[in-house]
Amino acid sequence: MDLFEYQAKALFAKHDVPTTPGRVADTAEEAEKVAAEIGKPVVVKAQVKVGGRGKAGGVKLAEDAKEARARAEDILGLDIKGHIVKKLLVAEASDIAEEYYISFLLDRANRNYLAMCSVEGGVEIEQVAEESPDRLARINIDPTVGVDVAKAREIAKAGHLPEEVLDAAAVTIAKLYEVFINEDASLVEVNPLVRTPNDEILALDGKVTLDENAEFRHKEVFADFADAGTTDPLEQKAKENDLNYVKLDGEVGIIGNGAGLVMSTLDVVAYAGENHGGVKPANFLDIGGGASAEVMANGLDVILGDEQVKSVFVNVFGGITACDAVANGIVKALEILGDEANKPLVVRLDGNNVEEGRKILAEANHPLVTLADNMDSGADKAAELAAK
Ligand code: GDP
Ligand code: MN
Repeated sequence: MDLFEYQAKALFAKHDVPTTPGRVADTAEEAEKVAAEIGKPVVVKAQVKVGGRGKAGGVKLAEDAKEARARAEDILGLDIKGHIVKKLLVAEASDIAEEYYISFLLDRANRNYLAMCSVEGGVEIEQVAEESPDRLARINIDPTVGVDVAKAREIAKAGHLPEEVLDAAAVTIAKLYEVFINEDASLVEVNPLVRTPNDEILALDGKVTLDENAEFRHKEVFADFADAGTTDPLEQKAKENDLNYVKLDGEVGIIGNGAGLVMSTLDVVAYAGENHGGVKPANFLDIGGGASAEVMANGLDVILGDEQVKSVFVNVFGGITACDAVANGIVKALEILGDEANKPLVVRLDGNNVEEGRKILAEANHPLVTLADNMDSGADKAAELAAK
């Protein structure tokens, strides 16, 4: 789960990473209020989960509360790379002497953690990597050893941070590593990490990705940070039902069992769609091995809730859960959904007990269901129905 800057900074504060005090605001009035409480010049920052906010006009300084309100009005509603600004962070403005870069991330290729550090912060790190790679240090971190203040100092030095600030930077960097480990993050990035005119080292920006596989260890953090408002409502609903669902842009709803089968179903439907006015898959939905009636009903419910969906292709290969059980699941799911099931369904079954499964569907004779003999003809039929 990617966090907003203000959420990343909440985790920083929890681990005593020095940053500037501030609070989140949803409206210009609220922004003015926060700025008045701070009582000093502030920075008003768009809260969107995308970088480059500064360049896009999403980060503005304000001398006082009135000006903060005006800047908040400018920034709220901005479209930054497709993300509409609905929240702002209003924080005490910091004086900046220099801007650095620091991050901790997973180095999957080396099965290790990686620290990256550079004296050239405040610009996109890809640009630094390209233009002055010798200024960007990459340091492997042994997860069993970790990063203490001495190691953090090595990292800062390798990133060419000036001698005078190495001690202060080391303390902050070691604390950022604590955030990375203790919060089960897969990324902690601070750009810029700033040096103030008094040689303090502050995290002025924060980008954190939390590992969703560790949610069970951080129930409260995940509950606090889940933003139902900005995730797709269908994805939210799918998540509540433990379904592995990703919304896409097309018209043919897809249900399958097994991620590999669903991925190939997407391809086959996209291909078939080319013969039917360019219709495309509407989603990825893997209902997994145990395709019970309830799981099938939940899956159909999510897909049918997508207004763009015109038809649904159910593509199931019976394995541990045999085709007859899946067929019963579909029939019961349609019963459970009743009138809510209102779009044509093409069903392709194969694998264990396929004959029984097809028989169950044929006998149920549901007006919305068409049986397909194989994956290609099922995809073609579903695309045809979506194009109508
Ligand atoms: P990003 O553009 O999305 O990475 O947003 P940042 O939070 O990194 O802000 C962009 C730039 O705005 C920073 O690199 C700083 O130069 C500037 N900036 C951010 N906060 C402050 C602040 O408190 N004071 C000053 N003077 N500049 C700031
Ligand atoms: Mn930044």
